[in-house]
Amino acid sequence: MMNWFERKILGFFVKTKGVFSKPFFAGKGLIFMLHRVLPENERNQYILNRELAITPEKLEAYILLFKKKGYQFISLDDLYDWFQNKKRLKQKFICLTFDDGYRDNLIHGLPILKKHNVPATIYITNCLPNHSGILWWYLFEDHVKTAKKLEINTSKGSKTFHWNTTEDAFNQFGEIGNLIKTIHPDELENVLQNSFGKAKADFEELCRSVAMSWDEIKMISNEPLITIGAHTMSHLSVKQHGSDLVEYEMLTSKLELEKQIGKEVHHFAYPFGGTFDVDIKDIKIAEHVGFKTSTLNQPGNIFKLNRKNLQVLPRMPLGDTTSDERLNFYLNGIYHFSDNGFKRGKYY
Ligand SMILES: [Zn+2]
Repeated sequence: MMNWFERKILGFFVKTKGVFSKPFFAGKGLIFMLHRVLPENERNQYILNRELAITPEKLEAYILLFKKKGYQFISLDDLYDWFQNKKRLKQKFICLTFDDGYRDNLIHGLPILKKHNVPATIYITNCLPNHSGILWWYLFEDHVKTAKKLEINTSKGSKTFHWNTTEDAFNQFGEIGNLIKTIHPDELENVLQNSFGKAKADFEELCRSVAMSWDEIKMISNEPLITIGAHTMSHLSVKQHGSDLVEYEMLTSKLELEKQIGKEVHHFAYPFGGTFDVDIKDIKIAEHVGFKTSTLNQPGNIFKLNRKNLQVLPRMPLGDTTSDERLNFYLNGIYHFSDNGFKRGKYY
């Protein structure tokens, strides 16, 4: 929470349209977090998960806008080299990152990236191409269409959520998600099969229908503009689990990806990536496993000061409903200040 003084400063920054925040809080650039790229009609099939996808048109519009504003698009390897003083950046930069490994990245995203020569990182959750992933954010949206409750029975206890309206159900999604995140991966499949009334084959089918296969991942990894990053085996909220499991998830996902694509994997994103999901122990493990960079889902601009904390790089969400005002707040550092106050480059 901001104190009185910080709130006063924030008000001043907003009033002066970022002119005074920019020199101190805009930093050198930003890393954006995206997930899916879907045409409007496919995107509109979803309500809860609608914002998980950006339309190809909007993605292209953002690329053109950032270029017009004088930003250059760089890869995470370039960013790392800049931190290490091995590369100079004349312009402000933007890094695009896409989480999880959805197939639409290949179908709808890649053509636009290639058209405008924009590099991007795709963080793969290995359980998706292994078809053992449980995409409970989609399962829940589907469940709400016909059910009025969700029962979650784990070895630690059980909890039932009730709702009358779809809106009421979606309002509880945060709480439900946080409970699911605490379930051990060994138990998760069974628990959620019971909760959602689904079979193992249904979970597999969902992975097959939305995620890239290993062949597709190999194919996209051979694109010079694309960097493949790791995102754990089972999309684990690492803070909610013990060190041994977290190390296993990070290391095994890195090694399996490297074996599959025949290239080293240097970059990592914490699944979910919020304050509920990432702790100091996890940051140390990411460092120990040997990632060059690890990204969060917590807002902030990137400064040279971040070079000492490469396992906690902040990211900004980018989507169709990111308003022009919010985008300006991102670019001129106002959003950074509203979330981090005077802190720059260090968040843990
Ligand atoms: Zn993810």
